[in-house]
Amino acid sequence: MRVGIVGAGPAGVTAAVFLSRYEIDVTIFEREEIGGLIANAWRIENLPILPVCSGEELVAVLRKRLEASEAKVIYEEVLSVEDKVLKTKLNSYSFDKLIVATGTKPKRIEDFEVNQNVVYEFKRLPRGIGRLAIYGAGDVAFDGALKAKGIGIEEVHIFNRTDRIRAVPKLVKLALSSGVKYHPSEPICRVEDRHGDLELHTDVGRYQFEGLLLCVGRVPNLPALIGQTKDLYVVGDASGNFRQLAIAMGHVTEVCMKIVHGE
Ligand SMILES: Cc1cc2nc3c(=O)[nH]c(=O)nc-3n(C[C@H](O)[C@H](O)[C@H](O)COP(=O)(O)OP(=O)(O)OC[C@H]3O[C@@H](n4cnc5c(N)ncnc54)[C@H](O)[C@@H]3O)c2cc1C
Repeated sequence: MRVGIVGAGPAGVTAAVFLSRYEIDVTIFEREEIGGLIANAWRIENLPILPVCSGEELVAVLRKRLEASEAKVIYEEVLSVEDKVLKTKLNSYSFDKLIVATGTKPKRIEDFEVNQNVVYEFKRLPRGIGRLAIYGAGDVAFDGALKAKGIGIEEVHIFNRTDRIRAVPKLVKLALSSGVKYHPSEPICRVEDRHGDLELHTDVGRYQFEGLLLCVGRVPNLPALIGQTKDLYVVGDASGNFRQLAIAMGHVTEVCMKIVHGE
């Protein structure tokens, strides 16, 4: 049996490693780098079967496990999936079963995208910045603030549209005690490019930063899925609302069991 997997984040790599052990012919497609979104994580503490580690460390483990498997890796972006055929810019590939593990994409605020220092993922921030603003007040925002402090970014400010924080309390406490400045109920109204730096406008005032990390939510990121087939499975963050490693990996494992058992 030939299985095609789209996306080499935690869900896709789990599927590739799992299915290869059954001597299934597995090909995994990745448009960027192995590891997916978790590469951005400051510290992963919620998986009791793993020692506490950074996102980068976990990605190194995923990469190693994928390389040690029999799965073939193709670095191409999948543009569409139609009747068990994957299409990339250059080629089409056909399989018996398809697993789509393409994760999420950020909710964008296009008006704020004034230069390349405005990003949606920590790993895309320019190196060497000293002042960072973060917009959002969920886990990803506080996680990003701690990571920024950890790599020596001196001034980190979190701006929250409301006064409601939706992050693990421990992350919030650690961020605030490490000197992160928190601005509740202070939405960013406008962002301007000032010769490469950023000027943020709120109702309270104007601020100068060198980088802006937007963490205002994510939505599923699917290639064009044309037609329905029982041999196509959408898994991991691409398929659900609760976006956690264990859920993504558990979900895809259930799908792999069904494939192996011919259900
Ligand atoms: C800052 C941060 C910290 C986090 N911390 C934790 C944590 O501590 N604990 C926890 O449980 N979870 C955490 N998460 C959530 C966790 O990262 C996700 O739940 C997990 O990465 C989902 O895995 P996935 O494989 O479904 O999707 P993703 O990780 O998003 O992987 C999708 C992959 O598909 C690729 N792709 C997308 N489209 C295509 C295409 N068309 N063609 C080819 N390839 C494509 C992408 O490049 C990517 O590699 C965190 C997330 C963030 C952002």
